[in-house]
Parts: sequence; structure tokens; C-alpha cells
Amino acid sequence: MHIASGKRPGWRLALGFLAGVLLIAMLAIILGLNACSPGSAQDQTPTAIVARTLDDHSYARPQEARVRHVDLDLTADFTAKVLKGTASLTLDTTANAKHVILDVKALDISSVTDASGAPLQYTLGALDPMMGEALTVELPQGRQKVVIHYQTTGDGTALQWLDPAQTAGKKLPFLFSQGEEINTRTWIPTQDSPAIRQTYSARIVVPTALVAVMSADNKLTPKGEAVPGHPNQRAFRFDMDKPVAPYLIALAIGDIGFKAEDRRTGVYAEKAVLDKAAYEFADMGKMVDAAEKLYGPYQWGRYDVLVLPPSFPYGGMENPTLTFATPTVLAGDRSLVSLVAHELAHSWSGNLVTNATWEDFWLNEGFTVYFENRIMEQVYGPDRAAMLRVLGYQDLQTDMKTLNAPGGHPEYTRLHPDLKGINPDDYFTDVPYEKGANFLRMLEHHFGRPKLDAYLTGYFHRYAFQSMTTEAFVVDLRQNLLHNDDGLEKDLKIHEWLYDEGMPDNVVLPSSPALDEAAAAAKAFAAGGDVKTLNTTDYAYPQWVYFLNAMPDTLTADQMASLDAQYGFTKSHNDEILFAWLMLAVQHHYLPAMPALETFLTTQGRMKFCQPLYAALMKQADWGVALAQKIYGEARPGYHYLTREAVDPVVNPPAGSASASSPASAT
Ligand SMILES: [Zn+2]
Repeated sequence: MHIASGKRPGWRLALGFLAGVLLIAMLAIILGLNACSPGSAQDQTPTAIVARTLDDHSYARPQEARVRHVDLDLTADFTAKVLKGTASLTLDTTANAKHVILDVKALDISSVTDASGAPLQYTLGALDPMMGEALTVELPQGRQKVVIHYQTTGDGTALQWLDPAQTAGKKLPFLFSQGEEINTRTWIPTQDSPAIRQTYSARIVVPTALVAVMSADNKLTPKGEAVPGHPNQRAFRFDMDKPVAPYLIALAIGDIGFKAEDRRTGVYAEKAVLDKAAYEFADMGKMVDAAEKLYGPYQWGRYDVLVLPPSFPYGGMENPTLTFATPTVLAGDRSLVSLVAHELAHSWSGNLVTNATWEDFWLNEGFTVYFENRIMEQVYGPDRAAMLRVLGYQDLQTDMKTLNAPGGHPEYTRLHPDLKGINPDDYFTDVPYEKGANFLRMLEHHFGRPKLDAYLTGYFHRYAFQSMTTEAFVVDLRQNLLHNDDGLEKDLKIHEWLYDEGMPDNVVLPSSPALDEAAAAAKAFAAGGDVKTLNTTDYAYPQWVYFLNAMPDTLTADQMASLDAQYGFTKSHNDEILFAWLMLAVQHHYLPAMPALETFLTTQGRMKFCQPLYAALMKQADWGVALAQKIYGEARPGYHYLTREAVDPVVNPPAGSASASSPASAT
């Protein structure tokens, strides 16, 4: 399929390249041309391969005119729920570029001008429900700046405007953006492709009671500055001087406070949860130190975390310098901080070296899951890291099973899927995360840690602030780790790992004695053992999750009640444990947990928790369907667009379709 679509898998490149050179040389002889003339054969360096890769999810033609810098001047109107103002784009253009093509979706554009305010001609292409519209702006000779005057609309998917009732503080509204994957175009008119890195600056005007923060330098105007003529507003300024993929431009506005953790890390949160958040993430500084020891200097200055209101659809989003995080990790005992390790790891894999297209998503996520686990091992020890590896592998197996089931998507079990015509938001499985990490663990197993670490450090250094494709990665891997050993490449099944469905047989299966114990305890209990005789003292949260996941679907009502009485699962403050318990409770129709289920589903909107719980309810035809519909009716207005997209087909499946959609799992 890749060959047919013009994207040849990397392992065939060497052969293809040689054949291509020969063919060109023969043609040149026949035509009497000099075969060595520039451009006669394609450059096969990773950077050149990336440069000519097309992004199927963007209208941009960066070879002609590309955006280098975005300068935003936007006012947040919480009554109309819009951002309004200008985006001034600085361009690099070829000498004869006639226009620049931008990606826009659900934007209300009033005019486009050059830097002096002179109008520029522009056209909007046909609206595609996934891609949005191509905004083509004519460029009179020499113009390198275009200014788009616009406002966002309610049809956009990047911005979530929360009423005070949807926040932790309940008094003031909140706004946050989520750009990944192709949503930035619904709040910023720019070239919305991860390969088109852009620096940015911004002036954001907000009501005086609120604070704005961005994925940039947040210390330029810590208290904001006056807005002449508007005493009820203040403006915050931001600067990101390193080129980032547009999906990493992020904004949040709310009743936000800040607490430092150490010299370069700190926590932003709604003031109502600030102390709790600062306590939870106290180890952030240690994590940054551990990450630097592994793969080189942290290149972004500060590393802060912003804890968002509960409707945030993901666990975390790695916006540079400022990770956006779900409050569902505030367990009160620092047990769920692996999320921070994950988002921090993205400062290297994802933000420093970025997937060039969404088909290369595993380069962001697989590397990050591998790296996250190495950070956890450094900070919390090998036993904890082993437990997390096993849990991740368990999640992967669950997803693979769903994808391979009748009516599923076995093609999504490839690390490098074909996403042409598919919204990358809909391609959301554990495969790029966990299969990707297992690919690197296979390399670690073969080469040993010192060699793989040296390779990864070099990789982040070679491609810092660049984007990367799977094909280009293979060329680099071949040069710098495999040392062009074709036999070894075949033995390690590199091609099978990256381009084929399923899991190659040289996967290194993770194991954890601590989790084996938990599974044995679950088995003993399920076989009729007394809950009081189980040795669960000092269980870490992954052991509890594993313990619950290992329970069969045949427990009696008495067994469920005795588990709950002994361990208080229904009242757990750890959302991972609570989620595993609620899945079991739905399976067994354990009524005492249903109020907690309803509370859980109506007070947070993380896709990873919501989608599977609704799907489990919908499988209980006699009672669960009605309950799912009742709870969803109440909860849906408070959910983020992405969560609604994930749950809608589950609770209201289109006629004739199976109720389970593709798995929605993320960190
Ligand atoms: Zn991630």
C-alpha cells in the first residue's frame, strides 16, 4: 500500500535508490545529458526525505510560501465565547511565489491586509468537514507579511469555553485550547501541519479577573498590563522563540494562580486546586533532572504544569514549557505522576523532534512512552517502572483485540497507518504509544541500554527543532544504530514492526513479580478465598489496577460486596483504581457503586475513562443502556468536543453498527 501511494517503506530505499540512479544514468546517456546535474536523483538524507513529504491533513504548500512566525493579538470575549483580533504571519517565500495557502476552519474572516494595512486579495476554498478550508492570500511582489483579521466561531473544535459551574472554583469562566491533532486551524489561521514549525508571540486581552497563560514564556507580563480605554480588561504578552509545530500553540484563560516547585518547575491551576496540585507534582524538578541525564539538556527554559478543569479530554497535553493536565491525576498521594513523566518526555520526543505527519504519530508517542518509563525508573525505581510496562502492555492487548474484532480496524495495528482521508482525531488507540515503546524496548534488548541511549541522544541532537517521518527515521536508524547491516535489519524485523499489522514475535514481553502477586491474589479470591486472608499490604496503585483487571466476570454479589467492604474501592480517590473498579462493577451489576459511577462520569470528561465505561454499560441491555443514556444526557454538555466524538457513537450507535467504536485510550 505504501509503495502504491508513492511512499516507499524505508527498508526498500537503498535498492530503490540504486535502481533510480542507474535508470537516470541510462536515460542521461541516451539523452546526452550530464547525469550528475543537480536534481537528477533525489537526496536520500533524512532531512531531504522529510522536506518532500506531503502532509495529507494540510492544504499548505510550504515549498512556495511558508509561515515562519505567528503574532497574535486577540481579545477573549467570554459573553460571545469568541476570540477576536488579528494573526500576523511572517512568511518565507520563493522569488516567484504568487500566494500563500493557509489552513482555516470555522473562522469568521473579515479582511486580510499586508503589514501596512493595505488590503490583500484572498479566497476561501470549498469546505471539507475534516480539513476545513484553504485560505489563499495573494502576495504582491515582495510581501512577506499577511495580517488576517478574524474571530473564532462556535463551530471550532480547539477552544472549550467553560461556564463558572464547570470549573473547580465555580465563580469565573475558563477557556482552554487543544490543538492536537488538526484543531489549531479553528482558532489560528496558519499552516496547520506539524512539519511547518513556527515561532510565535501573542498579546491576549482578558477580563481583569482572569489570567492568560500560553505554551511560551509566561513571565513577560506576570500581572498583565493595562488596556488603554478598557479598564475592565488587561493584556498578557507571550513569546515562543523556538520553532514549534502549530498544534503546540496553546492558550488557557481562567482564575489561574501559580506556585513554584523549584528553580525551573512550577504549577499553574485554578486557585481552588492550586495547593493540591503543587503537592501532587512536587517531584517535577527531579523528573526534569532525570530526563536530562538520559537524553541531553532540556531545551525549553521552564517546565510548568497547568492543571485544567475536569472536562479536559486527555490525561495531559505536552504544550511546550506548559503541560496541560487533567485534574484526575490529583490522587492526593502522588501516585499518578507518571503522567507528568510522559508529558515531560515529550519535551524531547514530540516537541523537539516532531512527527512530520499524523501517520508518523508513533514517533511522538512510542518514543515518549519508552522515555517516560525510563524517567519513572530513575525517580521511583525499577519495580514501579516494570509494573507500568506490564499495565501498558495489557492496555495494548485490549486495544489490539478490539481493532482485530469483526468490524474493527486491523489496519490501525500498524505503527505507520494510512490516514489519507481520515481525521487523525479518530485514530486514537494505544498502538502508536505502546507498540511504539515496545519497538524501542526490542532495540534496547538487542543493543543494550548504553548503545540505544547513545543513539537516542544523538537522534534528539541531530534533529532538534525539526520534524521527522517514519521513512526518514529508518534511514537514520540504519546509519547510526544498525550500521547498514541488512541481515541484522531483517533479523530485528524492523520493517515488520513499522509497517505490518499485529505484533512481531521478537517483542520482549514485560514482566513484574509484584503484578504476578496481585494476579495470584485475585485468582485466589475469585476461587472462593477469604478477602481478609489476601496479602495486599503496601500495594502500589498499579497492583490494585492489575488485581481488579484480573478478576473474572463471574464474581457473586457477595464477593463484590466483600471486596468493597475490605478495600473501599467505591470511595477510592485514585481515579485509575476507581475506573478499574467501576468497570468491574458495571460488569457485575453491583448496584452500590452506581451512584459513584454517575458522579465519576458527570464530574470529569477524560476520554480514557468515559468511553470504556459507557461502552461497558451499553453491553448490559437489560439495565445498562438506559443508565448510560440517562447519565450521558446529563454529562454530555459538559464534555469536550473530543470526548463527545468518542462517546456519541457508543451511546447512540448509528443503526446497524456494533456499539463499540474504535478504542479511545490515551495518556
Ligand atoms: Zn503523549
